[in-house]
Amino acid sequence: MAEKKKFQAIKGTRDLLPPETDLWNRVEQTAREVFGTFGFGEIRPPIFEPTELFARAVGGETDIVSKEMYSFEDHDFGELEKLRSVLLIRELELENPQSASLHKGQLTEFNAALEAGMKGRKIPVTPENERALDDLKMHAARIEILRRDYTGGEWQARERFNASVTGIRQALRVVEFGDVISLRPEATASVCRAYIEHGMHALPQPVKLWYTGPMFRRERPQKGRYRQFYQIGAEVLEMVPSFAAKDAATAGGAKSAPKDAAVDAEVIEMVMAFFARLGLEGVKLEINSIGDRECRPKYVELLRAELLKVKDKLGPDSQRRIETNPLRVLDSKLESEQAIIAGLPKIADHLCANCAAQYAEVKRQLGMRGVAYAENWRLVRGLDYYMRTTFEITAQGLGSQNAVCGGGRYDGLVELLGGQPTKGIGFAIGEDRLILSLQEAGKGGTALGRDVFVAWMGEKAQATAIAAAQKLRAAGFRVELPPVEQKFGKALGQADKLGARYALILGDDEIATGQWTVKTLADGSQAKMSEAEFLELLRKSL
Ligand code: ATP
Ligand code: MG
Repeated sequence: MAEKKKFQAIKGTRDLLPPETDLWNRVEQTAREVFGTFGFGEIRPPIFEPTELFARAVGGETDIVSKEMYSFEDHDFGELEKLRSVLLIRELELENPQSASLHKGQLTEFNAALEAGMKGRKIPVTPENERALDDLKMHAARIEILRRDYTGGEWQARERFNASVTGIRQALRVVEFGDVISLRPEATASVCRAYIEHGMHALPQPVKLWYTGPMFRRERPQKGRYRQFYQIGAEVLEMVPSFAAKDAATAGGAKSAPKDAAVDAEVIEMVMAFFARLGLEGVKLEINSIGDRECRPKYVELLRAELLKVKDKLGPDSQRRIETNPLRVLDSKLESEQAIIAGLPKIADHLCANCAAQYAEVKRQLGMRGVAYAENWRLVRGLDYYMRTTFEITAQGLGSQNAVCGGGRYDGLVELLGGQPTKGIGFAIGEDRLILSLQEAGKGGTALGRDVFVAWMGEKAQATAIAAAQKLRAAGFRVELPPVEQKFGKALGQADKLGARYALILGDDEIATGQWTVKTLADGSQAKMSEAEFLELLRKSL
């Protein structure tokens, strides 16, 4: 007998169950409707992509890429991979001919398979793999010669032997049998990749796309933070005509500021309209400009210089970030650092003319659209690709994980991924947190009820019950049809438990007369009526 084992959802993942899934569907349907009114079409990119895509787009230095991605090699060389593991752990000494000859056989086999795989282009022919194969062959040959000529006791020979053993281990570790792929930690990179791959720059610009689906990050699970979580997002992408500028980030100069700002404001307006339609409560929008390639680096240097002056008063995380990413210090929630941060130079005072003009215009545009906002000069986004307009939206009932949406402008990202100069702005909503907030505010779903419970008894009644259920379902009503006959008392009890509105009672009498018995469960009243009358009643009352 197989051992009894209790399976559970993996840490950080969870099942979404009815009736909660009704709310999820309502949220996604509302997104579809609201975004549709702004001219957005839905895109469904794959769940996994080459790791390289995320590394480039999100940034190799971010937490997401450096430690939170679920990555794996994608290949058909499982056996070869096992052989590599064996070779990696085998102890090898010059004096031990037995282990050496076993090693030699396995290494020869490995090298031959690797070479054949690369020749047949089944294993990627990368410079790393080519160098590894060369090294493996060279060290294998060296070990052979050393073994053959070894007469005992020469320390130089042993040293060279050990060096080659290390060389083999190093080369083995480098070999990649296939592409490394990752579960997506976010979707903007995928949308940009798709924009390039399908030549969407040839479509009328801008291209407006929205998406929804699961994302994966190996974070510490807590309320509002999961390892598989869901986002609803949208992106606006617009190729920059080749005459306008040599790159997207500086395209059009000051002239493009009003247009970009209007696009930013409309995207923000759209998210706020979506939240309003859902009845999300305690919604707060914060905005900032983090400058562009021209002014941000200068500000970052200034910030770094100021931070160095107060380094001793900062915590270890912030001290480290002075070197790696000074902007992130502004993000710090550490109580002891707040007073110091308040005195740091603000980016708004150091924006270049273009960025300043655009930021001012974004605020004016938001005003024209009746969108309330607060400025937060400390708002910096976690991902590398943002520039100029950035924003974050928080909602109530979420504790410290209260950000439900993050977004911003990312001109230049498409170019970074191999496309033409293209402007971009987008956002991602954390759907799990959005749902939590709606539930906390009492806007969750209720159990899936039934409109009609068909209580039937007798063979003839079953045929009528099936036909009735078919008709009612085709008309869109939720119908429960018991698979076997039940005493009416039991049937009515079950109808009650399921929260049915009406019980349709079909017995010999009803079949003979064509007059159905309909019981309204809320008040227990009962009436006789024809099929047509019952349908009419349902249409009117539901
Ligand atoms: P946070 O600061 O909360 O970690 P983030 O800056 O990592 O957020 P983004 O990458 O901008 O978030 O993603 C946008 C939104 O996705 C967030 O505002 C949040 O609502 C949601 N989100 C991000 N990570 C998770 C997660 N692990 N679980 C649930 N929702 C998440
Ligand atoms: Mg995060």
